[in-house]
Amino acid sequence: MTKDWNARTKMVHAGSRRSQYGEVSESIFMTQGFVYDSAEAAEARFVEVGDDEFIYARYGNPTVRMFEDRISAIEGAEDAFATASGMAAVNGALMSILKSGDHVVSSRALFGSCLYILEEVLRRFGVEVTFVDGADLAQWRAAVRKDTTVVFLESVSNPTLEVVDLKSVAEIAHAVGATVIVDNVFATPVFSRAIEFGADVVVYSATKHIDGQGRCLGGVVLGKKDYVRGPLETYLKHTGGSMSPFNAWVMLKGLETLDLRVRAQAHSAEVIAKALEGHEKLERVLFPFLDSHPHQAIAKAQFEKCGTVLSIDLKGGKDAAFKFLNALEICIISNNLGDAKSIVTHPATTTHQRLPDDQKVLLGISPGLVRVSIGIEDTNDLLSDILNALDAV
Ligand SMILES: *Cc1c(COP(=O)(O)O)cnc(C)c1O
Repeated sequence: MTKDWNARTKMVHAGSRRSQYGEVSESIFMTQGFVYDSAEAAEARFVEVGDDEFIYARYGNPTVRMFEDRISAIEGAEDAFATASGMAAVNGALMSILKSGDHVVSSRALFGSCLYILEEVLRRFGVEVTFVDGADLAQWRAAVRKDTTVVFLESVSNPTLEVVDLKSVAEIAHAVGATVIVDNVFATPVFSRAIEFGADVVVYSATKHIDGQGRCLGGVVLGKKDYVRGPLETYLKHTGGSMSPFNAWVMLKGLETLDLRVRAQAHSAEVIAKALEGHEKLERVLFPFLDSHPHQAIAKAQFEKCGTVLSIDLKGGKDAAFKFLNALEICIISNNLGDAKSIVTHPATTTHQRLPDDQKVLLGISPGLVRVSIGIEDTNDLLSDILNALDAV
């Protein structure tokens, strides 16, 4: 039945499990463990866990399972495992299937903590990692080898919004039997078609658009059942990165309004990006649907809308960027994204501060770059706020 529903209906209803009380809003099963009717029942459950049976909250919980089933239905994935944060999801997706001696190819433009896992943790355990410019297919072709086991990428990169040609990269990876893992935060579950375009595993930080209201950390890994309930679940349930039932409930409530929020945010982001392009105080406006963006064609083929974030590069470097940030009245200075509140970030001095200068140059993180995550406020109010702050520079 769920299969025939459109995404917006699934976001409200898919995966719901009602207790004997017939509650309308999903219950929070705030319990660590579960009671067995008999010693024999306990023994049987450790042999095989039925669909409505649970053992321990680190292994699974009814509220968490509702969230996993709902996001699987939305994404068109066979199954999902929910995690304590987006980084627990990225770490679990990789560590559950990699071993010493494996080869990984990854795009270079990654979220800082993802870069730490690929560059430092995996290498420490004898996994060889080759980094490529995600937008350059020739580099992917040259880097992928017969012994490549995993290809990792962010479908839209942070903060410069480069778009990877997922279909082509997946073809290159699958030709050698590699697993394609996509960190899909910027695409959002609303506009994602990652599985259709060849991703084997899709990862979200639920902290971003899925909560979308700044409350909880969370993450989720989606993929085929034999991967999710096989190596992934085994790794995560024993290493402790599972999602709390309370956070799963917040994320379930977030999914109910996800489509409404993200479409409104994406609409404003596009209007604002277009209005800002060519502004005298700006070096460039980065937004994949703009005619000036080098990956516009791929973005339009892959996404119905290209997300809720844009980046602007101010003339005058850090000074100008800081004057702009400090003059904003609606947009708040923080480092999250996908929130109902519009958030501005200066990557060079915050999220990407740790990177050496040559890496910043390579990734396009210039001193004047400001990432703007557009919220659900009125579009015209946001545009006025940004234009007024630019005037103050
Ligand atoms: C935020 C983010 C993460 C990490 O998610 P947390 O929930 O903060 O752990 C990973 N990848 C991308 C692209 C992100 O934006």
